[in-house]
Amino acid sequence: MTKKFTGNEIRQTFIDFFVEHGHTAVPSMSLVPGGDSTLLFTNSGMVQFKDVFIGTDKKPYTRAVDSQKCMRVAGKHNDLEDVGRDDTHHTFFEMLGNWSFGDYYKKEAIAWSWQLLTEVWGLPKDKIYATCFEDDKGNVPRDDEAADAWREQPGFNPEHVLFFGRKENFWQMAETGPCGPCSEIHLDRGEEFDNLRGKPHRCGVNGECTRFLELWNNVFIQYNLFDDGRLEPLPQKHVDTGMGFERIVSVLQGVDSNYKTDLFTGSLEVLRSLTGHSEKQMLDNFTPYRVICDHVRSAAFLIADGVVPGNAGRNYVTRMIIRRAARFGSKIGLTEPFLAKVAEAVIRQYGDFYPELKKATPAILDNLTREEIRFARTVEAGTNHLENLLSSLRASSQTTLDGHKAFDLYATYGLPFEISRDIAREQGLDVDEKGFNEAKEKHALASGGGKAMGKLGGEDAEFYAEILKDLQSKKKLGKDGVEYDPYAGTNVEKYSGLEVLALVVNGQLVESANLDDQVEVILPKTGFYLESGGQVDDTGYIRFLTPFPSPSGRGGRGQGEEGEGESWEIEVTSMRRPSAGVIVHVGTVISGQPKVGDSAVAEVDATRRHNIMRNHTATHLLHKALHVVLSDQATQAGSLVAPTYLRFDFNHPEALTPEQLDRIERMVNDAIAADMPVHKESKSLEEAKKEGAMALFGEKYGETVRTISILGSSGSETPMEHEITKYSYELCGGTHLERTSDIGAFLIVSEGSVAANVRRIEAVTGRGAYELIQKRFKTLKRIASVLKTSLDETPQKIESGQNEIAELKKEVANLRAQQALSTFNAQLSSVQAVKDVNVLAAEIANADADTLRMLADKFREKYPKGGVAVLITGATVIAVVTEDLVKRGVKAGDLITGIGGKGGGRPNMAQGSLPNGEASNALTRVVKVVEEKLK
Ligand SMILES: [Zn+2]
Ligand SMILES: [Zn+2]
Repeated sequence: MTKKFTGNEIRQTFIDFFVEHGHTAVPSMSLVPGGDSTLLFTNSGMVQFKDVFIGTDKKPYTRAVDSQKCMRVAGKHNDLEDVGRDDTHHTFFEMLGNWSFGDYYKKEAIAWSWQLLTEVWGLPKDKIYATCFEDDKGNVPRDDEAADAWREQPGFNPEHVLFFGRKENFWQMAETGPCGPCSEIHLDRGEEFDNLRGKPHRCGVNGECTRFLELWNNVFIQYNLFDDGRLEPLPQKHVDTGMGFERIVSVLQGVDSNYKTDLFTGSLEVLRSLTGHSEKQMLDNFTPYRVICDHVRSAAFLIADGVVPGNAGRNYVTRMIIRRAARFGSKIGLTEPFLAKVAEAVIRQYGDFYPELKKATPAILDNLTREEIRFARTVEAGTNHLENLLSSLRASSQTTLDGHKAFDLYATYGLPFEISRDIAREQGLDVDEKGFNEAKEKHALASGGGKAMGKLGGEDAEFYAEILKDLQSKKKLGKDGVEYDPYAGTNVEKYSGLEVLALVVNGQLVESANLDDQVEVILPKTGFYLESGGQVDDTGYIRFLTPFPSPSGRGGRGQGEEGEGESWEIEVTSMRRPSAGVIVHVGTVISGQPKVGDSAVAEVDATRRHNIMRNHTATHLLHKALHVVLSDQATQAGSLVAPTYLRFDFNHPEALTPEQLDRIERMVNDAIAADMPVHKESKSLEEAKKEGAMALFGEKYGETVRTISILGSSGSETPMEHEITKYSYELCGGTHLERTSDIGAFLIVSEGSVAANVRRIEAVTGRGAYELIQKRFKTLKRIASVLKTSLDETPQKIESGQNEIAELKKEVANLRAQQALSTFNAQLSSVQAVKDVNVLAAEIANADADTLRMLADKFREKYPKGGVAVLITGATVIAVVTEDLVKRGVKAGDLITGIGGKGGGRPNMAQGSLPNGEASNALTRVVKVVEEKLK
């Protein structure tokens, strides 16, 4: 192999190659296949185009190329058990493919495969084999069409066409429907890649060892298969190809493991920096490293596609692989949360091609760490319990652990089946998977799960209205339903002793919830803010306080056996209002078993809330500053008030200048320093509007509205229309600070366009602003230390450095030209006489096109008549011909094509390019071409 490609370059050259051949580059479909309920995950490139082949869907293109995200971790295609134990299996992988929908067929597909592999990627022609279909049942004609196409490829050894039967070379989508023969491309990697070297084995294509590797499968869909086994030719023939991305990268990078390709370098380096292992130590114990890299990559892609950790289906898979990765981390001594750090490396590696990763970065990092911490809380108790079970298993001379017991481990300690099985197998034992699944199903039914999963918004309004009615009839809730008061501060006392009125798991009411359950909790009142007006939901915890005192005494619980068994905790991650009067806390049980009737305390994450309030009050100051600095027309078009930053969209026709941004930022900071009081008041909408409160266009308001006014005082440093007046006055349901000084600081992070006439400013405040300043300072300090200068001197130092570089570049160019000139002068002695013509054919190392032209001029100075020169550097070639010879029919452009190049120009001077490695061959042809032209 002449050139080493990076993984990202390999993916891109594949796509570019087929785009050049008329294909449309199609983005990967989601890992969650839309509309295909038979499939847990997208598991091949085919999924996206299935309906096109069946004929129920049509695309605007007939040729496509893509790199498809795939998961094989559950169901029939399940590679999980092999992942980590070898160098080739993954739970997540990419599949490169080119597709023809009734367009080109075998001839083109095979020719392009050959060109890409041998010419673009430089694989050795004599090491490539192609398999074609020959029916072992004798029903389907042999695929001579494909075999002949292979034999026609330039440089392909015709003896390398091999025929195989149905198992290897026939593809069908299902028992009936589209099907056809395929042609696989295999590569002989040589003896050193043979894992069975020296042992007797079937060594060859489709053999037993790792020396011959299948690279690419070209499927030719040409028949329709009927119930009775009848095959009929399809009116439209298709091509469907698939090439495992990780494998081709390992081949082109010349390594013996997918995990040694640059796709995993970043992740492995992060891990190694955490464990402190040397490269050798890592390779000696490679399995944990492989498992972690693979699983974190999968989890990152899954979360980016919206699959967060949970208890059922796809969500269970995400949970399981995260926990499995965490457990393998503990095997190499990692005790602190580390998965997010590995995920950052994954996002760096893949984020450019798969932008969904970049977009979901906070969600990916957050979910990983959260899940990791949750698992850490219970894993020790869980594994201890499992160890006990395994010991008693051995004591009774059994080898397989009851699946129901394994499920108990999951329900109680959050130990996924796959991890229990890992641990059992490490001790030569096993776990009954069927039993586990049975128990899981039973549990889902018992807790009311089943098919009701994932009901959201609108659809379930009735369900919650029923709950409300029921609670009202029992006098547990008043006529307005759940009391909503997020404005009273985050004081815990106020929200203590609340009865758990209802628990909902999987869309069903339950009496109690279990560890790790996603649960919705209804309390008589809540201080958690519910997203509105751009301000995000509060998060926090609901904790067990006491069993709720009940005159009848409930089922023996809490009767003199209070203690550990009773306590529980729910982590609240979001809020929603599924129906009028019903506000639910959405969260996860992180310990114990919450029960309806328990008395609880609900605690808003106060630090987070405080950060949100800083951003919200700052948003109002920003709005004001925009009006002053830009115009009254710069009105709010949308906003997001989060704990870490604020985002403000406003109407404005053009980008803001740096000066405007500067003024806006300064004005907000002045208002912060002025320590203005923030007043909140409820009044009628009419009154508020009359007073000039800013209302948002398109927002619906009730009769009574909440108003936020920020009051200036006469001592204020901020310009004001009146002496004491409302500096800012808005209708707003959000939570706000008492005084503006509490914001601390306000920094604009970015300004840009979101739509026509709509601009967006993102900014940070308080702690966020401090973090940003810290970060910027650190960068500056690093720059200064690299430049070995003080912070203040860095700009001059960089400027002078750039000047120096520019001068050095000039100097290098001069030296190169001089060097080229002296080579050229030496070459002049080798000018050959062809009849009365002086011919120079020379290769000049380390030059560029400009230098070649300069040398060509020198040549013409020396030979104003009767001269021809062909000069080559790298792949660039320049030809010059003196005027007298042009008249005799020698043309510069013809010279370039005559020696095998491409290009053109004037008759007396032309420039072009040569195929790689053709320089010396081309030079030898020059004299002959000149002779021919002179005839
Ligand atoms: Zn072999
Ligand atoms: Zn507001």
